[in-house]
Amino acid sequence: MDAGAKARPRRREMAAATSGAGRCLSKGGSSRRPPPARVRVAVRLRPFMDEETKASEPSCVRGIDSCSLEVANWKKYQETLKYQFDAFYGEKSTQQDIYVGSVQPILRHLLEGQNASVLAYGPTGAGKTHTMLGSPEQPGVIPRALMDLLQLTREESAEGRPWDLSVTMSYLEIYQEKVLDLLDPASGDLVIREDCRGNILIPGLTQKPIASFSDFEQHFLPASRNRSVGATRLNQRSSRSHAVLLVKVDQRERLAPFRQREGKLYLIDLAGSEDNRRTGNQGIRLKESGAINSSLFVLGKVVDALSQGLPRIPYRDSKLTRLLQDSLGGSAHSIIIANIAPERRFYQDTISALNFTARSKEVINRPFTNESLQPHALAPVKPSQKELPGPSEAKKAKGPEQESTGSPASVTAPAPASEKLSLLGKLCSMDPATMESLLSLDRLLGSQGSHGTPLLNTPKRERMALIKTVEEKNLEIERLKMKQKELEAKVLAQEAQDPKDKENSPTVLQPLPSCTDTVAKPLRKAVVMPLQLVQKQAESKIHILKRGHKRKLEPSIASKPVEKAEDCWELQISPELLAHGRKKLLDLLNEGSVRDLRSLHLIGQKKAQLIMGWRELHGPFSKVEDLEQVEGISGKQVESFLKANLLGLAAGQNCDPS
Ligand code: ADP
Ligand code: MG
Repeated sequence: MDAGAKARPRRREMAAATSGAGRCLSKGGSSRRPPPARVRVAVRLRPFMDEETKASEPSCVRGIDSCSLEVANWKKYQETLKYQFDAFYGEKSTQQDIYVGSVQPILRHLLEGQNASVLAYGPTGAGKTHTMLGSPEQPGVIPRALMDLLQLTREESAEGRPWDLSVTMSYLEIYQEKVLDLLDPASGDLVIREDCRGNILIPGLTQKPIASFSDFEQHFLPASRNRSVGATRLNQRSSRSHAVLLVKVDQRERLAPFRQREGKLYLIDLAGSEDNRRTGNQGIRLKESGAINSSLFVLGKVVDALSQGLPRIPYRDSKLTRLLQDSLGGSAHSIIIANIAPERRFYQDTISALNFTARSKEVINRPFTNESLQPHALAPVKPSQKELPGPSEAKKAKGPEQESTGSPASVTAPAPASEKLSLLGKLCSMDPATMESLLSLDRLLGSQGSHGTPLLNTPKRERMALIKTVEEKNLEIERLKMKQKELEAKVLAQEAQDPKDKENSPTVLQPLPSCTDTVAKPLRKAVVMPLQLVQKQAESKIHILKRGHKRKLEPSIASKPVEKAEDCWELQISPELLAHGRKKLLDLLNEGSVRDLRSLHLIGQKKAQLIMGWRELHGPFSKVEDLEQVEGISGKQVESFLKANLLGLAAGQNCDPS
């Protein structure tokens, strides 16, 4: 039986795609869909740990070649399972072999502003920590990668080179579904968030700048010691928690257009994948096992969903998978190293580890270059090599949704409460989508070269002019809205006075939809088309309904046409449709991505992010009206939101022939 055969025909195609990933995304960035890169999988077999066992039992695992192996069931020898992976490292392989063969090749992507991750998977005692960390005599992947990365960044940022590079490190542990900062053990459970670009962030996580390998050791060794002290005290806690070292490479272009890039490297020593039901754990160990099992169980579900191309990937079901969201099926070049052991007692765990890894190699990532313009032209930023604040300081200094890096999102200061914002302040508090448009404009102007320096590099004057234009446009929109209301009132009043006329000349209502269009367009440019159409249909239905409705109204009621018609909008939808629409909206609010939320009426980029942020903090909304609790969304806005979307959905249902 060949358990790895299924994925074999795709190997060459995927390998070609992976090697082209860096080239395709040029330094200038590209709007093309990033090319795919399959998750790479390597298997490492450790040697027998003692001569006695080695002499008394044959190995369960046998290497076939540099990519394949077979596992023998010693109870049933005809039951031999064959697997093929990207690489197989036998018991004689060295730390250097694994590093050079499987890890070193992906490091270069970090300097292209792309993400990478290395995960050690396998049962406890199979060699994960040995592979990742190693010993002073046999250093593993972590020290080797850090050594190389620091050397590479030094070379790349030498004087005269176009980019200035800096490296920071964070070190955390996920233990019983808690994210703990190993560089600041006093800090409690940290939250994991996603920014508008889909990057995973941990606000408040300590980041230490490291310029040399000794800087790295200075922070890493005490943190690791903390962890291993815990191991003896807390029943080998280290094998029950996931240890995550995060290394960020930040690049800043020295000359215009002053781009910046960030590449993240995750080096992860996962908790043991053994089936703890078989190990007979009890008490705290059972509790730990439960947490670990659920975390690794979700990892398995995520891998399954990704490899089967399912629409919903359960990343949010565990801390580990949430953290790995941009590494598995996301934006990273990923390698999983499955560590296995030769002894019989590991047989079941070896099979399940290999099956998990075989499924993982079907997962396709789409790494892209994480590039933007440096924010220094917008607001003063901290010097790049200054020590970043620890979580407690960071938490005090920043809002909860900000990460302690110089990423574009983190320099976007929250808008001050004061009405009298400075113009520069306004620019800083602009929502990311608007800021991104400004940055693209700036890039465009910058690329025109001869016409002066880029806009965002010039003094305040140009920026003020731009802000003024935006404000004028906003006023114009407000003015048009008022005009629309007046027109509507006028038409309705006219209808009330002379219903016969109205019936004979339905074209009286014609100006309304076109007027709505004029006003709505600039506001709704980000809303997807199908809903817009639905909204238009809904709007035209309102007018028809208003007409029908008013025929039954008493004259005294008809004298207040606008308010009445608006108040009664819910009556225009059947109770079933209303309930169905509300449920649909609630589901979207609770489960939708930023993009899904933006497809709703009256929800732009900023509101979508506010909703996501609230959801992260407080959990799901219990009813749509809870939106009012989101800072920045008023009760009135919730009313308008409900009206626009429920009418839109109802009109969609009415039009739906099914
Ligand atoms: P895990 O982290 O998966 O629980 P460890 O890395 O702690 O496993 O390995 C268990 C033991 O096996 C350790 O004593 C380690 O030094 C040893 N070991 C693991 N892999 C190898 C290897 N490839 N060569 C020599 N010793 C190894
Ligand atoms: Mg270990």
